[in-house]
Amino acid sequence: MSGIYIHIPFCKQACSYCDFYFVTKPDNKNAFVDALIEEIRSKKNTFYSSDAIDTIYFGGGTPSLLTIPQFDKIFSALNNTFNTQLKEVTVELNPDDVTKEYLAGLKSLGVNRVSMGVQTFDEELLLFMNRTHNSAEALKCLELLKASDINVFTADLIYGNPGQTLKMLEKDLDILLAFDPPHVSAYSLTIEPKTRLGKQLELGRLIPAEDETVEKHFELVEEKLKQKDIHRYEVSNFAKTGSEALHNSNYWEHKNYLGLGPGAHSFWWDRSLKTAYRWENEPDLKNYLQTKDFNNPSKERLTLQHLAEERIMLGLRTVKGIDLKVLEAKYDYCLTEEQIACLAQKESEGKILFDTNAIRLTSTGLKIADALTLDILTA
Ligand code: SF4
Repeated sequence: MSGIYIHIPFCKQACSYCDFYFVTKPDNKNAFVDALIEEIRSKKNTFYSSDAIDTIYFGGGTPSLLTIPQFDKIFSALNNTFNTQLKEVTVELNPDDVTKEYLAGLKSLGVNRVSMGVQTFDEELLLFMNRTHNSAEALKCLELLKASDINVFTADLIYGNPGQTLKMLEKDLDILLAFDPPHVSAYSLTIEPKTRLGKQLELGRLIPAEDETVEKHFELVEEKLKQKDIHRYEVSNFAKTGSEALHNSNYWEHKNYLGLGPGAHSFWWDRSLKTAYRWENEPDLKNYLQTKDFNNPSKERLTLQHLAEERIMLGLRTVKGIDLKVLEAKYDYCLTEEQIACLAQKESEGKILFDTNAIRLTSTGLKIADALTLDILTA
């Protein structure tokens, strides 16, 4: 089973923290949909169209800037090209785009999961993030989602913002939890160099939150969500049992996925299963609209050693952790004596749970998952 990711590169304005590929000019949406359909059709009768596809994820950018008829055309092309046996179809939405009719339209096309970028309900923080929506629009959208027939909705929150107190975060969580969400993604703010916040940091006009504060936010998120039976299953992802995201879980388990649209990434195993390839569509809408040959990207070849290390990194961010037998059978990777000693040391510090079958991080370990992974891989 494989997945498809579709990048919709339009946004109304640039959020201050965002370093995804997007354009803020609304022109060219029809031309984009036509080019996307061309790209989809170019995969017919290829390596990619024979595999069963069980998840589709529309991300961006802002997929909810497309109309239902535009989605309809895209779904027709997908169903005509791929072997679709869909279990999960997700569309990312921004609160200011959503109406009851829009959600019903998505549902009628087979969308069964929507992901809404709430980020916070605090008006000042929304301004700091340069979001297009306000708190009232987010609340209205959550009410519509709750009343809709869409099976699962998820909301994104960002914590660890400069000036954000624990009380402010608690208020955000309380407001969101009143809607009983089946899934929540909560990210700590990262300030990327090429963003508006990155520039402000460079100019000394922004003081990031202290590590200690971010750690307290991390703990508060986990605690509040746990009280509502929404459990962490990955560093930034929480769900009620059975509502975990299939598409994203597939990324962490190295399943094949095909990225379509400008800036989309793909990952696909070679038939030998001894190597895999990763590639990126050029993040340039103008060039994308003029592309004649969608089947000639330059691909990075990944060795089993590289893949094993990546799988450890991704797996240790999940509560399930890493199955050592899978690591050996699929990636030909065995732990060295030095790594075993390093794991034993981390276990004695309460950061890792480790036996002959699996490695998992404890709640304490998950706070520093990336640093721990690096220590294990370089031991
Ligand atoms: S966060 Fe989402 S809506 Fe904001 S600029 Fe980035 S892609 Fe667009």
